[in-house]
Amino acid sequence: MYDAIVVGARCAGAPTALLLARAGYRVLLLDKAAYGSDTLSTHLVHQPGVAALARWGLLERVRASGCPPIERAVYEVADIHIEGCARGVEGQRAGFAPRRHVLDALLVDAATSAGAEYRDHCRVTGLLRDDGGRVVGVEGSHGGRAFTERAHLVIGADGMRSTVARLAAAPYTARDPRLTCAYYTYWQDVPADLELYERPGGWVATVPTNDAATLVLAYFPQARFAEVRTDAHRAYMEQIRATAPALHDRLAGAKPTERLHGCGDQENFFRQPTGPGWVLVGDAAHHKDSITARGISDAFQQVEALVEAVTGTLGGDPALLDAALARFAEDARARLVPGYEATLGAARLDPHEQRLSLLRAVQSDPELTAIYLDMVAGIASASALYTPRLLALL
Ligand SMILES: Cc1cc2nc3c(=O)[nH]c(=O)nc-3n(C[C@H](O)[C@H](O)[C@H](O)COP(=O)(O)OP(=O)(O)OC[C@H]3O[C@@H](n4cnc5c(N)ncnc54)[C@H](O)[C@@H]3O)c2cc1C
Repeated sequence: MYDAIVVGARCAGAPTALLLARAGYRVLLLDKAAYGSDTLSTHLVHQPGVAALARWGLLERVRASGCPPIERAVYEVADIHIEGCARGVEGQRAGFAPRRHVLDALLVDAATSAGAEYRDHCRVTGLLRDDGGRVVGVEGSHGGRAFTERAHLVIGADGMRSTVARLAAAPYTARDPRLTCAYYTYWQDVPADLELYERPGGWVATVPTNDAATLVLAYFPQARFAEVRTDAHRAYMEQIRATAPALHDRLAGAKPTERLHGCGDQENFFRQPTGPGWVLVGDAAHHKDSITARGISDAFQQVEALVEAVTGTLGGDPALLDAALARFAEDARARLVPGYEATLGAARLDPHEQRLSLLRAVQSDPELTAIYLDMVAGIASASALYTPRLLALL
C-alpha cells in the first residue's frame, strides 16, 4: 500500500513524487515512456518555475547540464521594440530552457533520491475502486505484465490526454477552441536572447538551450494547420521571414540540428481536478496554448500547492483528504485563470491597437519594461503596469 501513486513522470508528476517523498510519504511514480526520453514541447521555464527549481535544490543541476541562463528578453511587434530584463521573483531574474530529456530526467532522479519508487515503461489502464466507488489504486501493464497497486491517493500527472481523467470521468469545467499550431527545431551557431516577434497571424520566438543550441519556434493560426502541415518546413521558414526578417537573415547559412517538430493539437481547458481518492495536476488538470510558455512553471506551482494541501491528511480520514483536495482545486483554478485568459489573448495572434499604444509607452521606460517582462514571465499581472508613470506616458 502506497500513500500516493503518481501517473506520469515529467514536470508535474516527478516533482509531485519528489515533494511527497521528502515529506516522508511512500510514493510510486509510473510512466509509460522511457526514462530520459524527449517529449513534444519547447521548454522555456519562466522565473516562477526557476524559483521553484531553486527552492527544491535543483537549479544548480539545471545549470550544470550546460543550460544557459536567459537574462535578456526582446519583444517586437509593429513599430515597437522592447528590450530588457525582468525584475524576477525570489532573486531569480533569469529564465532557463533545459531540454525536456534533461529536465524530466533530473526531476525523476531527484524523486528517486528522495525515496520515491519509479517504474518507466509502465502504462496505467484502469483505476481500482472500493465498494463506495472511491479510487484506491491503479492497474495496468509494466514491461508487458499486468499489475495492480493500491494507494490512499492516485495522482494523474499524465498530460493533456490524461488517462486518469478519462477513467475518473473528470468533466471539463471550461473549454475554448484551439487557437494556434506550432513548429520548432534547434539551430547551431545562432546566438540569441529570448526573442519574441509578433505580427497579425504570426508569432516567432528564439530560446537559447543546452548544447549551445537555439530553439526557434513559429506559431500560426489554427485555421492554417491543414495547409501548413502539407509543407511544414517551407511554412516555418516563411513565417520566420515574414514575422522576424532580421532573424531570418541570421539563420542563413546556419543548420537545424534536428527535424522540424510540430503540434496542431493544443487544447484550452480546465477539468474538474479531483474526486474521492484522485486528483489531477499539470496538463491533465488544465491545458492552454503553449504560446506564453507557462505550462511547466504552472505545473510546478500546482505541485507545490497540492503537496502542501495533502500533507498531514494522506493515510488518515479520507473525508479530510477529500476536503483538502477540494480546497487545493479551488485555489489552483483561481491562480490559473488570469494566465489562461492572457494566453488565449496572445494565441489569437491579433495584436490590437489598444495594446500597441500601451507597449509604445512601455518601450520608452526601463522600469515599465521590467514590469512588462515580469508580466510575460507570469510574475506580474496586467494591473501592475498601470502605474502613475505609465498613465503619464499614455
Ligand atoms: C509545442 C509545445 C511547446 C511548449 N512550450 C512550452 C514552453 O516553452 N514552456 C512551458 O512551460 N511549457 C511549454 N509547453 C507546455 C508543457 O510542455 C506542458 O505544460 C508540460 O509538459 C506539462 O507537463 P505534465 O507533466 O503535466 O505533462 P506531460 O509533459 O505531458 O507528461 C505526461 C506524462 O504522462 C505519461 N503518461 C500518459 N498517460 C499515461 C498512462 N496511461 N500511464 C503511464 N504514464 C502515462 C506520459 O508518458 C508523459 O511522460 C509546450 C507544449 C507544447 C505542445
